[in-house]
Amino acid sequence: MLGKGLSLNLATVREQWNLCKAVEACVRHGIRCVDPWRDQVAKVGLDAAARAIKDAGLAVSGYCRGGMFTAADAAGRQAAIDDNLRCIDEAVTIGAECVVYVVGGLPKGSRDIGAARQMVADGFAAILQHARACNMPLALEPLHPMYAGDRSVLSTLAQALDLSDTLGKGTGVAIDAYHVWWDPQLEAQIARAGKGGQILAYHVCDWLVPTTDLLLDRGMMGDGVIDLPRIRGWVEKAGYRGWTEVEIFSRDNWWKRSGDEVIRTCIERFQAAC
Ligand code: ZN
Repeated sequence: MLGKGLSLNLATVREQWNLCKAVEACVRHGIRCVDPWRDQVAKVGLDAAARAIKDAGLAVSGYCRGGMFTAADAAGRQAAIDDNLRCIDEAVTIGAECVVYVVGGLPKGSRDIGAARQMVADGFAAILQHARACNMPLALEPLHPMYAGDRSVLSTLAQALDLSDTLGKGTGVAIDAYHVWWDPQLEAQIARAGKGGQILAYHVCDWLVPTTDLLLDRGMMGDGVIDLPRIRGWVEKAGYRGWTEVEIFSRDNWWKRSGDEVIRTCIERFQAAC
């Protein structure tokens, strides 16, 4: 087993339960860590969410998600920064180990990916001081390049590490196997991240063939083509000893099953296929 064991990203059971019910289910199944999404927290209320997690004795491997810094005009970019400052405060209240970032794609009407990347760097620079003051690490998550248009102009681990190097203290990366498994530089970049002490989170699920939906057709570990044990080996070798977060968005399959079945399967596959 890698590090501290399994953390359940609560998006995995978002269609079955609200946050409080999902936390109860985790306790029932012996899961000791979660990563809630902001909308799930908002739905039950920040204080109630924090209390439920704390009372259950659960750790919080991350808080999903900050980012979306790109916007067509200055007012939009400032609104994103303000929202990201609030997100950091929420993460502190929830007791998260880091905030996970999906940085944003191209603003509407733009074809300038370079400018979008600059907006992302500027956005992080604008929230960094507050994050440091709160002791809240910022985990930059590179997303598969198929999302560069609408979700993340940060596409590779190398690129995320370059940005983290530029920003400096208080930043690192979230390595999500789903997004980076295809990268020929993956082993080397994981080693680099380890050397820099920059691995803040590790996420797993599987890449289904064929994939029918770009966002909502993630597979259960073991059902797809990602060599998860090999990647885990690299992450382990790089010195990461934290949680392994299972994060599955699956509109037509896992979100339609009972939450208890989903969690049972996550635990089985975590042991057998990760
Ligand atoms: Zn992820």
